[in-house]
Amino acid sequence: MSTFKLERRDVAPKRRYVTQSPLCFQFPELAPRSLFMAAPPPAHLRVRQSERLLEVEWSPTNIARIPFKLLRTECPCAACVDEMTGERILDPATIPEDISPSKLEFSGNYALKVTWAGGHDTGLYTWDRLDEIAQCLKSS
Ligand SMILES: [Zn+2]
Repeated sequence: MSTFKLERRDVAPKRRYVTQSPLCFQFPELAPRSLFMAAPPPAHLRVRQSERLLEVEWSPTNIARIPFKLLRTECPCAACVDEMTGERILDPATIPEDISPSKLEFSGNYALKVTWAGGHDTGLYTWDRLDEIAQCLKSS
């Protein structure tokens, strides 16, 4: 039984999604999905190459237009962000102004995987993360 619990912990979503009772942590499949994912999947994702941005549409009245460079800067992967401290390792000054994605893929139904021109492909942008970036854009 203890082994079973350990395995469950290993596959549990990242800490920041788990804010409810410890039960949810051990048995994430029993918990309502909203406990782990605040942001729903977008209805549409559009790459606007000419405008250098990713358009994320949750609804016709809730559309975020995220510039490629910002999206690249906010890459959440372990090479770009220290997993322990949450500190950004990536220096935004090293990102070319004309950075653009070469490929977008869905990772399951919870995230967008972006491959950047130049080959960086380890970033998984969860819907929550895209929503956070969108909120930053709105408030700036
Ligand atoms: Zn990265």
